[in-house]
Amino acid sequence: DSVVYWMRMEDVRIEDNTAFALAGKKAEELGVPLIVLYVLSPGDYTWHDRSSKKIDFILRNLRWLKPKLDELNIPLYIKSYDKRLQIPRRLVTEVFPELGANHVFCNIEYQIDELRRDIATVKRGREKGIEVVPVHDRLVVPPGKVMSKAGKPLSVYSPWQRAWADLLSKDKTYLEMSDIPKGNDASLKKDKRFGKLFDVTPIPDHVEGFELKDSEEVHKLWPEGTDAAKELLHRFLHTKARKQQLQLVSPLSEGAEEDDKKSRLKVYQDGRNLVDGDHSSRLSPYLASGVISGRMVLNEAKTMGSKGRLETGRDTGLGMWVQEVAWRDFYNHVMAIWPRVSMGRPFLEKFADVQWEVNEDHLQAWKDGKTGYPIVDAAMRACAARGWMENRVRMVTACFLVKDLMLDWRLGEKHFMQSFIDGDLAANNGGWQWTASTGTDPQPYFRIFNTLTQSEKCDPNGDYIRYWVPELKNLKGKAIHDPFHSLPSNEFKKLGYPAPIVDHKKARERALFRYKNVGEKE
Ligand code: FAD
Repeated sequence: DSVVYWMRMEDVRIEDNTAFALAGKKAEELGVPLIVLYVLSPGDYTWHDRSSKKIDFILRNLRWLKPKLDELNIPLYIKSYDKRLQIPRRLVTEVFPELGANHVFCNIEYQIDELRRDIATVKRGREKGIEVVPVHDRLVVPPGKVMSKAGKPLSVYSPWQRAWADLLSKDKTYLEMSDIPKGNDASLKKDKRFGKLFDVTPIPDHVEGFELKDSEEVHKLWPEGTDAAKELLHRFLHTKARKQQLQLVSPLSEGAEEDDKKSRLKVYQDGRNLVDGDHSSRLSPYLASGVISGRMVLNEAKTMGSKGRLETGRDTGLGMWVQEVAWRDFYNHVMAIWPRVSMGRPFLEKFADVQWEVNEDHLQAWKDGKTGYPIVDAAMRACAARGWMENRVRMVTACFLVKDLMLDWRLGEKHFMQSFIDGDLAANNGGWQWTASTGTDPQPYFRIFNTLTQSEKCDPNGDYIRYWVPELKNLKGKAIHDPFHSLPSNEFKKLGYPAPIVDHKKARERALFRYKNVGEKE
């Protein structure tokens, strides 16, 4: 017999991992081996628009974990299933019996397809006498716990966040972390039945269809492993900010100059919306793939709060940051409570019938960073190279797609998922629905970003644009934000940079009209 910890796609760590810890305890109690199972599911990756950068990141993290598990004499057993809907049946009839597993622990994934898969696995397991136990782990506060005083779910962030912070201050158990299991006896490696599990399943180099081009730069930028995540966390919370930093440099690389005046948290507080430097934690790929947990992050933040309390107010950099981490919980709560948002539906159903444009050329120009709006193009090119964007330009590029190009927000949501190394269904969907004014707590539809003003605010000297849009690298002053209207036409032509594909003023009018008159034709 054995106990299996079924590691989920976005669960790739052994520290502070609830299901892993519970599986370890059960194995100890029963005196049987503990096995880690990881199921690769290319069908799911395609279905859910996973990016090759993210799949590669996960495989790298698994490779990083393997020797750690080896030290604990725990085999990492990898299975790959192309047909996603067969997974429950095949696990219960093939894999669990093969591993002799009577008890299986896993952390819950809150997307609707994954919840259905788990329900099917639990049911099928029960029929065969195998106990499959999904547990809460992914969020700091599980869905269903943050409620209004009347016991109703909250869909507006501010009251939700206050209730979330209140819960954390009153109930210390939310921030309690799990121990790493003791592991198996070394003799397991020589065991006739289980010994072979240590060798038979190498972690693949790549998943077919998700091969990564330009991997070297991406690997440098996003080093794998919980230790790298902890180093990033430490660097963000405890070190001084660096001066301007090239956008493609790994935050953990050496050689960047230190600016000893301001802490990173102070820079975050003052300039979180700037994109021309290294202003935020860059932890999202690690949190999204579960390489580090929300609890680990908040416990570290807690050590810095006054009297060891978790700061949650917006008057300090630390509190502001904790509130951002809370958004991650918030959007996952929204997805768990209103699953329609993970099924391509707007939260506000009244906006289901907004009239969208169908324009492949505009969509492609947006994806390629060739819209003629430099800040949009810079961010989209940065996204393609790094698999990551600063929060402000996620909002700017998203708003441009939805309100200026009047293209369906779901097309943008899909493209971000297919590009990001930190793609997270709940956060991405939440961000898009906020921008498209269809979400739980949205930007009202009549507040439309002026791309040019946003550009001047978030990249005041144009350094970000100059770095990512080489056609504009010699432009000085304000022209960098709007070269088409700032330069004489013959000079503009020489740049080899596209003219704006839409006129913002007209596009704004169109968006206002279409949102106001949902369902009616122009
Ligand atoms: P920090 O500012 O250092 O924040 C720390 C952590 O808090 C982040 O790593 C992230 O886990 C969480 N966080 C911060 N802001 C948000 C937010 N608005 N919503 C949810 N969690 C947040 N974030 C993703 O992790 N994956 C996505 O796929 C994603 N898609 C987005 C799409 C759009 C259109 C928008 C507007 C935002 C999206 N975000 C997404 C949220 C946010 O932009 C990123 O989490 C953030 O930029 C990551 O950088 P950081 O780790 O340096 O953030």
